[in-house]
Amino acid sequence: MNSSITTEADAIIVGAGLAGLVAAAELADAGRRVIVLDQEPAQSFGGQAFWSFGGLFLVNSPEQRRMRIRDSRELAWQDWVGTAGFDRAEDDWPRRWAEAYVDFAAGEKRAWLHERGVRFFPVVGWAERGGYLATGPGNSVPRFHVTWGTGPGVLEPFMRRVRGAADVGLVSLRFRHRVSELVVENGAVTGARGEILAPSDVPRGVESTREVVGSFELRAPAVIVASGGIGGNHALVRANWPARLGEPPKHMLSGVPAHVDGRMLAISRAAGASTVNEDRMWHYTEGIANHSPVWPMHGIRILPGPSSLWLDALGNRLPVPLFPGFDTLGTLAHIMRTGYEHTWFILTRKIIEKEFALSGSEQNPDLTGKSLRGVLGRVGRGAPPPVQAFMDRGADFLVERELPALIRRMNALTGEPLLAPRTVEREVRARDREMENPFTKDLQVTALRGARTYLGDKLIRVATPHRLLDPDAGPLIAVRLHILTRKSLGGLQTDLQSRVLGMDGAPVPGLYAAGEVAGFGGGGMHGYRSLEGTFLGGCIFSGRSAGRAVGQLLVHG
Ligand SMILES: Cc1cc2nc3c(=O)[nH]c(=O)nc-3n(C[C@H](O)[C@H](O)[C@H](O)COP(=O)(O)OP(=O)(O)OC[C@H]3O[C@@H](n4cnc5c(N)ncnc54)[C@H](O)[C@@H]3O)c2cc1C
Repeated sequence: MNSSITTEADAIIVGAGLAGLVAAAELADAGRRVIVLDQEPAQSFGGQAFWSFGGLFLVNSPEQRRMRIRDSRELAWQDWVGTAGFDRAEDDWPRRWAEAYVDFAAGEKRAWLHERGVRFFPVVGWAERGGYLATGPGNSVPRFHVTWGTGPGVLEPFMRRVRGAADVGLVSLRFRHRVSELVVENGAVTGARGEILAPSDVPRGVESTREVVGSFELRAPAVIVASGGIGGNHALVRANWPARLGEPPKHMLSGVPAHVDGRMLAISRAAGASTVNEDRMWHYTEGIANHSPVWPMHGIRILPGPSSLWLDALGNRLPVPLFPGFDTLGTLAHIMRTGYEHTWFILTRKIIEKEFALSGSEQNPDLTGKSLRGVLGRVGRGAPPPVQAFMDRGADFLVERELPALIRRMNALTGEPLLAPRTVEREVRARDREMENPFTKDLQVTALRGARTYLGDKLIRVATPHRLLDPDAGPLIAVRLHILTRKSLGGLQTDLQSRVLGMDGAPVPGLYAAGEVAGFGGGGMHGYRSLEGTFLGGCIFSGRSAGRAVGQLLVHG
């Protein structure tokens, strides 16, 4: 085995995901020498962000104004606090981070990214619609800006800067370097130790071997931990699962690669760091098994429009306002109370064509490949090809002309006759009767009519209201939905300079954190819930802050 100890950098960054790369780019721009360590091979450079949909939370942007959306910092803050529900003593730093982040999203974020070449799809999406009162959770207006080029488009400027800095010797990229210990001397973090893993040529995102072929020890005046969340480690997700969301699910799909393993949390704690809000997590309820999995238990999230009928495992409609795309964690808590972990969408061809989008760069080749022609094709007839591929090959999709046949196949898919045909038919027919008038008591129907007064929804997101049993809208489609792990909302507690705090609330000298491992700042700037599109931006904001703070530390000593 090889072993080496070196002191050759101003800073060590653990993790070559978006947060680590933004921090590295800031430091390199300031002329600092940085070592970036990552346990994965070079082909997974960029971490989760590469796979992401590239949705960014922006407030009062030109894209919003062009879509006739009036947004403001005040409205965004109202939505943020209503969604976060900060209620703990340890929410002091998260709340300060949240305020700074909303200022960023309403201020320089777009211009700063634009300067670096990031561009946005012109139709702004409306994620997490809430459905409660003005001070409750959810986005009052659409704010989800999809990056032209999706996740890789967000990463590109930072990868380019870091690769450029590597070419001139300012950044040293060391893949297959897994950190297992932070070096602590006289109470200060002064380096990192770990194992060199065997070379691996698995494609991007595929789980790589953990065979150890050597060890390393590196020293630097500052270490920035940017190691991501815990969503690929189901044991840790279950251990942190809060009682308010019911029992931990027995079966979950993974919305993230296996390297999102959460190991650095305990490693940082061992060096004196404080972790908070680890019971706050952001998992989805619209997961489907990937027909072409890349990582273990690979699930894809449907980004649903609001029209599908959402039924629990026994065929009862989910209660108000748990409509598709309204309240992620409210829906998760409800599902876990039903005694079953799966649910169903029932919809029509007409709805799937207009309303189904799949989260992930590889599921949106038109946007990821920046193909105007491909994107315009979405407006035409027919489901987008990646959605069609799931209809043809996805284990969770069923297509039938008649409702009784559909219900029979739904029962066959779960292997248990959980759905009473009478229950499902009653829900479908009752909902269809509410379509007769342009006004109705059914709040989901009212919501989708209301949504179509927003230009973006009318153009590409919400189908013209119709009866599910209208033969012209068919065939009927049923989709079985699973719980899908994704983001961690808590983690290492940091102050506004991204300095990691210890149990006594004072900074641990030499230790910084950014991105998902820091709860995107402060140890949980989202509080209990997110407004969506806030994670990539959280990596950019906290990565930039960590890079700048370490740069300052080196100037002032
Ligand atoms: C499919 C998908 C869609 C998404 N869509 C969106 C979206 O539209 N909008 C949005 O805002 N967010 C989205 N997200 C979330 C967002 O992409 C992530 O939260 C974000 O990219 C996390 O970045 P990070 O740098 O904190 O961590 P990561 O990307 O996880 O990077 C951390 C890196 O650290 C390395 N590492 C970990 N531990 C060690 C160790 N001990 N030693 C060495 N290296 C280590 C890992 O190998 C990894 O490369 C999506 C995520 C996915 C997976």
